[in-house]
Amino acid sequence: MEKTLVVILLGPPGVGKGSQATKICSQYKLTHISTGDLFRENIKNQTELGKKAQDIMASGALVPDELVLSMLFDRIEKQDCKTGYLLDGFPRTLAQAQSFDKKLKPTDNLIVISLEASDETVVERISGRLSCKTCNRIYHKIVNPPSQEGLCDHCHETLYQRPDDKEEVVKRRLSVYKTQTKPLIDHYKKLNVLKTISGEHSIDKVFEDISIVLASTTGEKV
Ligand SMILES: [Zn+2]
Repeated sequence: MEKTLVVILLGPPGVGKGSQATKICSQYKLTHISTGDLFRENIKNQTELGKKAQDIMASGALVPDELVLSMLFDRIEKQDCKTGYLLDGFPRTLAQAQSFDKKLKPTDNLIVISLEASDETVVERISGRLSCKTCNRIYHKIVNPPSQEGLCDHCHETLYQRPDDKEEVVKRRLSVYKTQTKPLIDHYKKLNVLKTISGEHSIDKVFEDISIVLASTTGEKV
């Protein structure tokens, strides 16, 4: 029977989830589903769910779980998800994870990859970021500095630090992440689908480690 690979990617901000998601999806032909994009698409296309979400957001309230889940469940029914998909930014809560469990089919092969890095690594990575307001390029003070200090290589605009990237804010985001994710990690451990991967290494090395894990679960050769 044809198995559908379903990958959930967990990890704190700054651990490199975005780069790994792109690599995994291209290597394993998975559809990349980010809940942020789902929202934007539904609103842009003015679907029933999108309109509902828009009204709720306009009122200043948080979009309820059921709405997020409905958008997601709609999305994974589409043809391009039949061969497999990767969830980015979902689930965020144990309740979401449990609803998603119920939606899984016997032919779905669920793997949850938790990318981990120390607080120091994450804080250093994010708080060193410099962004360009004009072209959105991102630099890093140490790892990827612009050739002229403080100026974008591309458009020579003065680089700035996004408020979200300031050290105190990163620390707060991290602590929120940990509180939110701990129950998820425990949940997936119990289901025996959790794979922990160190995100401390280079993008290529981390991807290699992920590939080994995916190959051993899918029975494919690396
Ligand atoms: Zn620029």
